[in-house]
Amino acid sequence: MNPETVSVSTGRRTAYLVVLVLAPPLLLALAVPAVWGWGIGVRDLLIAAVMYLVSIFGIAIGYHRLFTHRSFRCARPLRIALLLAGGMAVEGPVTLWAAEHRRHHKYADRQGDPHSPWCYGDSGLALLRGMAHAHVGWFYSARLRSNRRHWVPDLLADPDVRRFDAWYPGVVALSFALPALAGGLLSMSWAGAWTGFFWGGLVRYAVVHHVTWSVNSVAHTFGERPFTTRDRSSNVRWVAMLTLGEGWHNWHHVEPTCARHGVLRGQLDPSARLIRWFEQAGWAYGVHWPDPSRLAVRATTRQRPPG
Ligand SMILES: [Zn+2]
Ligand SMILES: [Zn+2]
Repeated sequence: MNPETVSVSTGRRTAYLVVLVLAPPLLLALAVPAVWGWGIGVRDLLIAAVMYLVSIFGIAIGYHRLFTHRSFRCARPLRIALLLAGGMAVEGPVTLWAAEHRRHHKYADRQGDPHSPWCYGDSGLALLRGMAHAHVGWFYSARLRSNRRHWVPDLLADPDVRRFDAWYPGVVALSFALPALAGGLLSMSWAGAWTGFFWGGLVRYAVVHHVTWSVNSVAHTFGERPFTTRDRSSNVRWVAMLTLGEGWHNWHHVEPTCARHGVLRGQLDPSARLIRWFEQAGWAYGVHWPDPSRLAVRATTRQRPPG
């Protein structure tokens, strides 16, 4: 049998440390004097916004709801587009991402969860340390990683996924080349290519990372828990807005295969909306939409599902 976890080499952990932990805050720090000195033009803002939306939708709809949880099925061109969009976020090959995330769901906030903010205890300082661990610390500190053969045999058997993971470094290169190309072509200048690369590539990837990680750290610590779960998954509105729906994390832990995370009144879930549009266009099918009777049964507060 394939064990749940395998050890990870120091070299790989160091790579995670640089790409996932150290580089993003450094780039964000660099962005501050850049704005101070030169400002940010409409063109770069637009390029960065488009790259942000593609990356976050790619993670939310592609990596998370489609490939990790199988909350819908879709036509092959859309699957490939969603893989590529998720790859733009520079959060690793989809098999690695999904393996860690499936383990997170199995052990959420208990022994075995790769990134629980409660792993050091409930007291103030322990929780603060736990949040840092859940946010980025686990990338470097974890000596064991989720074994892909155990967690994602379905993805490993998928030729499109295998090809995507094999070409993953190329996808990362594309994630930085595209905004540079857009900046260069829109301005017809090398300077435009450079600022497009800086804002739409580097700064955008740093922001996307911290927005994604905040689901693990913030949406397992603060916020409301209208549904009963065995873990501390919660709903945090600002995280939900930045992650295009992923911050409605409480219901997601009740029904991980549900394509909609924001199921209560006023919980905007742009990722679910987009899946709905894909369904209406005939590109997505077999979508797991929430069952109103299940919502009512699991609700523990006065909040009620719409309709
Ligand atoms: Zn979670
Ligand atoms: Zn999930």
